[in-house]
Amino acid sequence: MDDQAVQPDTNTQLDHPIIELRAVNKIYGKPGDPDSVTAVKDISFAIRDLPGSGQCRVFLGPSGCGKSTILRIIAGLIPPSSGEVLVNGQPVNGPSADRGMVFQSYSSFPWLNVIDNVRFGMDMSGIPRSEGNDRSAALIERVGLGGTERMLPGNLSGGMRQRVAIARSLACRPRIILMDEPFGALDPKTRRDMQDLVAGLLGDNDLNQTFVFVTHDIDEAIFLADRIHVLSARPGMLVGDVEAPRATEYTRLAMSRGEYQELSNRIISMIYGNTEHSHVLSDHLLLGD
Ligand code: ADP
Repeated sequence: MDDQAVQPDTNTQLDHPIIELRAVNKIYGKPGDPDSVTAVKDISFAIRDLPGSGQCRVFLGPSGCGKSTILRIIAGLIPPSSGEVLVNGQPVNGPSADRGMVFQSYSSFPWLNVIDNVRFGMDMSGIPRSEGNDRSAALIERVGLGGTERMLPGNLSGGMRQRVAIARSLACRPRIILMDEPFGALDPKTRRDMQDLVAGLLGDNDLNQTFVFVTHDIDEAIFLADRIHVLSARPGMLVGDVEAPRATEYTRLAMSRGEYQELSNRIISMIYGNTEHSHVLSDHLLLGD
């Protein structure tokens, strides 16, 4: 009898989306106050597990449309003004180790060396130091930083510090990794290297992790995403979503072909209502205000 009672619960648990937002609004300041800012409006979506595979969902939209706001709400760093935020079917009440985060600004601890930075979350979670060291060393190698273990972040380049931040976000093996324009401050070459790194991590992701990545760069979105959620200019509203081929099957060469152009035109017309902007934007495909 007890077993039968447990069974439906377990099934329901499996059916929950990993991340779900229901009618989320976020207003900074007091509603009705002339200085208040409606950052995002009526945001609803559900991200489900891809059985046996990791995935990358990208939120793409013009600067200031509320992408970071959505990510910070999922992270539990800020509450929505209204609506519901669920992770694995549970309301989000604050940050949690099941959601790792990589910010645009480098967020390593400047007084800790690279391996101590990467191991930090594992230390906090009570993972034995020797296991933490082994896992950190493997991740440092994986993100291409082998040999820097004893260096302080201040002695690393911006790209290297973001590699530390990525290794740190992966260390506790969270189900969800939230990336907030993590490569926005990097030079174009380093940015491409970092995109390749994330694409590689997605390709060999044996933990079925869900990456949620925020950007205003269409190239970056198409390169990394399995699915792109497109947002309008502020207040950010979801205006559509498009499937993109897996990063691992999609070379940069293919991105210059017609298929890519067709995809980026679709995205631009979702945001601006037509594809006229594609002429203006086709050089660099960054979405402005
Ligand atoms: P995006 O990530 O798309 O650039 P953000 O989520 O950072 O957009 O911001 C959305 C809007 O909300 C912007 O107009 C921004 O100025 C405003 N905003 C963001 N954070 C705050 C805050 N803490 N207080 C007031 N306004 C904010």
